[in-house]
Parts: sequence; C-alpha cells; structure tokens
Amino acid sequence: MAISVAIIGSGPSAFYTADALVKSGIPCTIDMIERLPAPFGLIRYGVAPDHESTRKVSRSFDKTARGGGMTFFGNVEVGRDVSLAELRQVYDAVVLAIGAPFDRPLEIPGADKKGVHGSAAFVGWYNGHPDFRNLDPDLKVKAAAVVGVGNVALDVARLLVRDRKELEATDMADYAVEAICASDITDVYLLGRRGAQHAAFTIGELREMGELDQASPVIDAASLPTNFDDVAEEDRRIRQKMVEMLRGFAGLPQGKPKRVHFRFNCAPKEVLGGDRVEGLRVERMRTEGGRALGTGETEDLPVGLVVAAIGYRSPKIEGAQFDEKKGLYPNRGGVIEPGLYAVGWAMRGPSGVIGSNKIDGQTVAKTIVETLAPGTKPGRPALEELLAKRGVGLTSYAEWLKLDAAEVARARPGAPRGKFYAVEEMLKVIGRG
Ligand SMILES: Cc1cc2nc3c(=O)[nH]c(=O)nc-3n(C[C@H](O)[C@H](O)[C@H](O)COP(=O)(O)OP(=O)(O)OC[C@H]3O[C@@H](n4cnc5c(N)ncnc54)[C@H](O)[C@@H]3O)c2cc1C
Repeated sequence: MAISVAIIGSGPSAFYTADALVKSGIPCTIDMIERLPAPFGLIRYGVAPDHESTRKVSRSFDKTARGGGMTFFGNVEVGRDVSLAELRQVYDAVVLAIGAPFDRPLEIPGADKKGVHGSAAFVGWYNGHPDFRNLDPDLKVKAAAVVGVGNVALDVARLLVRDRKELEATDMADYAVEAICASDITDVYLLGRRGAQHAAFTIGELREMGELDQASPVIDAASLPTNFDDVAEEDRRIRQKMVEMLRGFAGLPQGKPKRVHFRFNCAPKEVLGGDRVEGLRVERMRTEGGRALGTGETEDLPVGLVVAAIGYRSPKIEGAQFDEKKGLYPNRGGVIEPGLYAVGWAMRGPSGVIGSNKIDGQTVAKTIVETLAPGTKPGRPALEELLAKRGVGLTSYAEWLKLDAAEVARARPGAPRGKFYAVEEMLKVIGRG
C-alpha cells in the first residue's frame, strides 16, 4: 500500500517536502492541507511586494502541485476543521509545515499602546493577509521606529519610504498603498541592540537602502566596528562586507526627502505617550563578547509608530509537543516522533532563506520513505469523508488557479496581481460564496 502523507501548510517547506516525496519514486499519496484558499505561505504574504522576483519561486511549487503527485486541500484549518489526532489516525505520516506566523512580543513598558505593531501583523497587513487586512495602522505620523536588524526590518523600513509610483507597481494591498502614500513619515529609525557586526541583513537587501529614490540612509561611521573578534569565524567575512557597506552609506550625499537612520548598540526601553505612541525611549548599549550591555544613557526618539521585527513563533497545535520558550516543535532532524514530523520554520524557528526549507523537506521526505514504506493507513478517502461529514468547504488547486487568474486580471497597471483580502471574497470569486 502507498504511504499516506498529510502535510499541514503550503509554504516553501510544505512544497519542498511534497516535491522530495514525489521524486523519491516510492508509492505515496500526498495531501497538502492549508487553512487559506491560497497556497504558498510567506511567499505570498511575507516576501516584500517590491521583491517580485523572489516570489517567482512559487512557479516551481506550482509545477509540483500540477504534477499529479499531490492534492491541495485549501480552506481547511488543522485544529479547527480537523484535529492533529484525527489526521494521525488516518495518515501514515503527518508533517507540520505551519511556519511561525506569530510575533514575538516587544516586552518593554508601553508596548501595548496604539501604534505598536509586530512585523508579522504589519507585513501581513501590507501584503493583504486575511488575518491582518483590518489592522489599520495609523501612519499619519512623522517618524517610525523599526526594532530589529534583519531583512524583515529592512523590508518594513524600505516600504515605508517608497513613493506611489514604486508601490503601485507591486501587488501591495490597495489600502496599504493609500495609507503609505498619505503618510507623513519622513524618518525611519532602524534599531539594533548589538553592534552592526551582529546585524542579520543580507548584502543584497542592505544595498537597496543606498539606492532608494526618496530616502537616504543615515549612519554615524564612528558607531561602526573595526574589530570582528566577537563574530563567529565562518560569518566574519560577510559581516565585514556588510559593515563596509554601512560605512559607505555614511559617505553618501544626503538631501533626499526621507531618511532611514541606522542605530546600532541601541535598545528600546519604553514606549512613551498616553493611549498611543508619542515616542520611544532607547538606551545606548555597548557590545561585549557578542552581548549587549546597557550604559544607562538614554534618548527619546520622536516616533509615532513602532514596528517590532524581533522574531516569530509557530502556532501551537494540540497533540504535538511544543517548546514554549523557542516557539517551535522539538525534533531530531525533523522527527518529532515516529509518524509526526516538522519542516521549515515550525522545525527550525524563523531563520534562513527560502532555500533553507528545501533541505528540511528533503531530509524529512527521506526519513518517511526509509522508515514508513509500505504504508498501512487509508489517508485521503478517510479525510474526505470526515470533512464532508463536517460540511467543511474545502477548495482545490484548480480553484486556486481560478482565483489566481482573477487576481492577475484585476491588477493595477504594471502590477503583477491585485489580491483579494478576505476569505469570503476569495470563496465568492471561485464560485463558493
Ligand atoms: C516578512 C518576511 C519576508 C521574507 N522575505 C524573504 C525573502 O525575501 N527571501 C527569502 O529567502 N526568505 C524570505 N523570508 C523567509 C521565508 O518566507 C521563509 O523561510 C519561509 O516562508 C518558511 O516557510 P514555511 O513553509 O516554514 O512557513 P510559511 O511560509 O509561513 O508557511 C506556513 C503555511 O502554513 C499554513 N498554516 C499555518 N497553520 C495552519 C493550520 N493550523 N492548518 C493549515 N494550515 C496552516 C499557513 O497559512 C501558511 O500557508 C521572509 C520571511 C518574512 C517573515
């Protein structure tokens, strides 16, 4: 009997797992269960809209989906429509590819004020994710702080200072384009607790900050390190290159209407104001042996918006052991326990690039094939029966293609697509509303 595999989620880690299972040549049935009618996870809802070329990785996922080796069950949420225990009863293998969609909270006084957002919510908002389309951040402020020094922080800072022409050429949600264009933001502060040598920017993303039409990067060259002893040897060359790029920013002519200020050794201490953000108190830090230590010296930044890009957590699904501290599923090489696996951000936490998920998928697929063939459980027919009994309106990949075509057809001129934001709206477009 073929091995029956249920993959929960349809982001990169899910598709790479499915692809590796198909390519193994071992008889298996693969069902991909996604809570939204649209597939591709953060490729659709995380990757910055002005990085359309990165999104093109979904073409290879589309090939896997159309190849006949897997079935897409959209609009089915594990934990709501079907439990993990039920899936494990009917599938030989269940793979958690559910990502890490929840923000790690900014734990400082005042972080509950209006105008403080996590980057998962903020990015989901501008990318038209159904969960965050109503976030409605107030951008009628003059300055914003983005806490964090990784690529997500760069994405948020960059998009806040782009102009209408640049944004309209992307698939950014209409409401977000309007809000950003109507915004008064001229200054964005990017804050890192430790020295610049510990920032997690990639070179390509950082380079863009020096090439923006409307904004100049601002950095004090004296704040940059010349000593890299506290950086792991394997990372040293790339971090030196990154710091040299930042040093180059310090020499760029200013004069553009907006600015992105890079502040390293600078930790947020308190969000200031009444109900809403009126400022952010930061403390100057010093980095010793790779650790940030406070100096007691503070400064109040005049910001009206704070976006915290300080990491993510996986959703907790009942029936699988969960590491509350790390926000992921403890595993060995993707194995949580025999028959239950994790890949991607649910396995490793939120790190690496899209391609990192490929290794996870291949590793887990290999383990499944080597340890579970031949299969013993019925898989798909049992799931279909269960969902039908519960009246769950699942959607197919063919229906996603219909939605995809409708989004492409309604795109702004020059933009790749115009997303539908609400699940009800998506269902209506595919004739299920
Ligand atoms: C803002 C942002 C920008 C990024 N930009 C880049 C970039 O430019 N380049 C790059 O290389 N990497 C980028 N990344 C990283 C990349 O997106 C991740 O490596 C990758 O998406 C992780 O894949 P995943 O499959 O683990 O999770 P995800 O892509 O998050 O997919 C998880 C899927 O599971 C579904 N799901 C969750 N819970 C359930 C449930 N209970 N039932 C059913 N389905 C469920 C979700 O709806 C989602 O579709 C970015 C990440 C972020 C956050």
